[in-house]
Amino acid sequence: MSRAGAWLRRLEVLTRPVDNETRQAMDRRWAELPAAVRTPAQALGRHGVGCEGTHGVFPRCNFSCSPCYHSREANQVRVDGPHTIAEVDRQMALLREVRGPSAHAQLIGGEVSQLSPEDHAEALAVMRRHGREPMSFTHGDFDYGYLERLAVEPDGRPRVNRLSFAAHFDTTMFGRRGIRRPGDEQELNPYRARFAAMFTRLRKEHGVRSFLAHNMTVTPANVDQIPDVIRDNRSVGFNLFSFQPAAYVGDARRWKEDFRSMTADAVWHRIEEGAGSRLQFRVFQVGDERCNRTAWGFYVGERWFSVLDEDDPADMATRDAFLTYLGGIHFNAPLRLLVPRLVRRAVRHPSIVGIAVGWLLRTVRRVGGLRTVLRERIVPMTFVMHRFMHAEDVAPAWEMMERGETSDDPVIRETQERLSACSYAMAHPETGRLVPACVQHSVLDPEENHTLRVLLPLPQRRDSQRLNGHGPRVVTGV
Ligand code: SF4
Repeated sequence: MSRAGAWLRRLEVLTRPVDNETRQAMDRRWAELPAAVRTPAQALGRHGVGCEGTHGVFPRCNFSCSPCYHSREANQVRVDGPHTIAEVDRQMALLREVRGPSAHAQLIGGEVSQLSPEDHAEALAVMRRHGREPMSFTHGDFDYGYLERLAVEPDGRPRVNRLSFAAHFDTTMFGRRGIRRPGDEQELNPYRARFAAMFTRLRKEHGVRSFLAHNMTVTPANVDQIPDVIRDNRSVGFNLFSFQPAAYVGDARRWKEDFRSMTADAVWHRIEEGAGSRLQFRVFQVGDERCNRTAWGFYVGERWFSVLDEDDPADMATRDAFLTYLGGIHFNAPLRLLVPRLVRRAVRHPSIVGIAVGWLLRTVRRVGGLRTVLRERIVPMTFVMHRFMHAEDVAPAWEMMERGETSDDPVIRETQERLSACSYAMAHPETGRLVPACVQHSVLDPEENHTLRVLLPLPQRRDSQRLNGHGPRVVTGV
């Protein structure tokens, strides 16, 4: 092939709306899904393959949470930068191989800021090298100096254009500097604002942008405080609020309440109360609705609007067109690639231009007209509820699935259905398998942490006693 021919071929591949590997991975995911979740709203297998997370890369944490999703051995594993980077590399390589060249992945432990800023930065770089858009999971109790060293080289050059963090703030967590045992959610508001303000400063001083998600574990004790958490913090810099009703998984010493008393609807209604709007979670479905509810939208001034209105047939037709024609496109790709990919798709399917314009006009009307759009502040805001499952259900369900059996017990059967539609995968390079995060935490974590404890023992120092009784914060998904 001539050089010009090779160049054109490369250009064609680079600007292909959805590359072949992604298409194949999505088709496989769709085929694996239980028939009941292959709905017109289903995003798995039609727009992406789901989310990914790390495990066993830094299991330890310097907080104490009740409940805690990690096994009790997690805190006896030393945080070790080279181990983290090597493991992240191996896990991401497998995810890249099985799920294609682009996905969102969570750098999650343990507490990520227990890594040095340089090791943390290298772990993120490794994830990006495997085509993963990383998000660091943290309790948020670190200083601006840490963030700056993470984002900026010693010579002042930014390491990255953009950082994503999911920060966990709630009253189930103990050990935060300045407020070791918060009395209620409101007392944490200054800490939430302080965390978000560090990223505003980072952008101002170094031009590094950020995406911030707020995570909250929900228990019977704090469920009624959800509305105020949203109302008080929706303007401080977060663009996503994620709520995880607590489950009986991880360290049993930290299960103090009746988690089964909280229904999905009850928690979701509290989230709606805080958002000040009905949250339409059936516009797009991510896996099984019993695991995930997600409402994508935006605030216009004080009011939240869904990006698509499920009561409007034209909007639902737009959803269908989006999944049919734009599903699988990597919207986080650099603009120089994204724009030609969208143009190619529009040239092939010109009707999508009219559909997009129609949606835009309807949406402007729905939010109050052009003057409202120009006058009010518009802030993208997504609400998520992710419900991990109880270990006592996951363990037998998984055991039977491994044998190719389906349970007759309705609870175990439901667990199996949800595991089959899981949207949150973790990689095991040693076996070449991916497992649902529920399986990782309910079944595999104890043994894994036991092995890591031997591999990475804590140094025999007096200050290790300080950490006695401090477990990792609750790990959250999506
Ligand atoms: S990790 Fe568990 S709760 Fe989350 S999507 Fe997967 S199966 Fe459902």
